[in-house]
Amino acid sequence: MKPKEILAQARQENRTVLTEIEAKQILIQSGINCTDTQLAATKEAAVELSEKFGYPVVLKVSSIDISHKSDAGGVKVNLKSKAEVEKAYDAIMRSCKAAVPTANIEGVSVQPMGKSGTEVIIGMIKDPSFGPVIMFGLGGVFVEVLKDVAFRIIPIEESDAEDMINEIKGKKLLEGYRGQEPADVAYLQRMLLKLSDFVNETPEIEEIDMNPVFCYKDGAVVVDARIILSAA
Ligand code: ADP
Ligand code: MG
Repeated sequence: MKPKEILAQARQENRTVLTEIEAKQILIQSGINCTDTQLAATKEAAVELSEKFGYPVVLKVSSIDISHKSDAGGVKVNLKSKAEVEKAYDAIMRSCKAAVPTANIEGVSVQPMGKSGTEVIIGMIKDPSFGPVIMFGLGGVFVEVLKDVAFRIIPIEESDAEDMINEIKGKKLLEGYRGQEPADVAYLQRMLLKLSDFVNETPEIEEIDMNPVFCYKDGAVVVDARIILSAA
């Protein structure tokens, strides 16, 4: 579906939260590389998709009522066989129903397991005085504990994207560290610009969170994405 159609459908269903699958569909069409992520409504469909992608795969709960999926036991990574996928499907359903009994669960999303890389996060929030602001930071503890994040008002230009990446304190980690390959900083800059353009053209979006993005020597891939629409 086209981004406009996905947004219209969410509005029609009276919701402001998109699923990971919808969020990635929108971002991919804006030129942002995301893992191919598809819905399986049953265990059998999850196995079928896994075989189509090839192992290893990742299964995640798909529900607009569960936005922090791992907190609910809704993420199983590195599944290497049909048996592991079947077991993961049952485990996800069991723990998510226990964690959020009222959740409407449409199934699981299936996606290939991304090769590990340096983790960054890229996002957008709306500031009450500045409007849409783009965010870049290192993933995990760097963002959660150290608040090592750079912000710019949207729209940004090439030099802003470059400055944002240069100003984070943990920048050294992007240059390669303890055998970790360096991150493709030029590619990340282009990702920031694409997100800025997309947000600029799509005022009805309130918040975007791509967390984590795996960065490699060549390129990067978004493995989780959240999009929230503004209240109608
Ligand atoms: P949450 O809703 O809890 O943020 P995520 O989709 O971010 O769920 O998944 C939790 C963690 O699982 C991620 O931080 C990442 O480390 C790992 N993960 C998720 N998707 C993939 C993937 N496609 N490949 C490899 N690891 C993944
Ligand atoms: Mg996440």
